[in-house]
Amino acid sequence: MVNPAFEGYPFTALGFNYNSMIVIITDLDGTLLGADYSWRTALPAIAELKRLAMPLVLCTSKTRAEVELICSELNHHDPFIVENGGALYVPEGYFPWDFNTPVHRAGYGVIEFGTPYLELVRSLQRAAQESNCRVRGFYQMSAEEISRCCGLPLKTARLAKQREYDEPFRILQGDPQELMAAIAREKKRCVRGGNFYHILSSNDKAHCVNLLIHYYRTAYEHVITVGLGNGLNDVNFLKLVDLPLVLESPDSGRIMSEIPRARLCRGGGPEAWNKAVLQIVASHSKLERPGAATPSASGADFISDSLQNE
Ligand SMILES: [Mg+2]
Repeated sequence: MVNPAFEGYPFTALGFNYNSMIVIITDLDGTLLGADYSWRTALPAIAELKRLAMPLVLCTSKTRAEVELICSELNHHDPFIVENGGALYVPEGYFPWDFNTPVHRAGYGVIEFGTPYLELVRSLQRAAQESNCRVRGFYQMSAEEISRCCGLPLKTARLAKQREYDEPFRILQGDPQELMAAIAREKKRCVRGGNFYHILSSNDKAHCVNLLIHYYRTAYEHVITVGLGNGLNDVNFLKLVDLPLVLESPDSGRIMSEIPRARLCRGGGPEAWNKAVLQIVASHSKLERPGAATPSASGADFISDSLQNE
């Protein structure tokens, strides 16, 4: 069943009759969002993408509830990826075929890669007990406590608590190495982000991005994919896109060494994001001029060279 809110979106884009279609896939924290969790500095580029019907895919460690709030504030209707690749959410009717997925929520077809939250919490409890560690997870914390610990506004902390595929926790007592080993015996992964450890399954942003690029390439003839990220959990998905852009951060040096063909956007955050995306859109419009050479394989090179020459 097609949700009328999304019906026709791909056809709007096709109506522009692009020789090549740009799809922007972006991380949120420290990339599209600044330290104040705001994207306002990036509004000019966001508006330009919307005007040209170019998809903007949010790809984040945030929860669906957090992303949905951002989508509603941006009046944004493209697919998104939550909780470090726990799931890919695709608006019903967005692509011109039905998704053969058993999970549908709130107008989205959901392709799940992560392990259900309750199972993660139980694994964490067992691993903590086995390794004699004392931990405190989001499931034990009130929204007020999360707000204080993470420096999040209370409203956002409430949304951050609505987890589906990843449990953040702190180690209050015990040997972290023992706990990591116990988590591995539970066949789960543990990653560290900021002040928190996260227990999750084998999901990665890249698994969702890989599938989504396949969908776009099925729907459109020539697709150029652009990725923007600033953290180590972005490396794998940035390796998949035609034009990887790394926003400056404490990890950007390591990311650049892992992806030598990536471009570094100095300054980081929504200001650098805005500048880079506006440059990409401008280069793309040059590429689309009548008579320009536009085979899709060289389209990304053309845009990348244009950025280098800015
Ligand atoms: Mg980030």
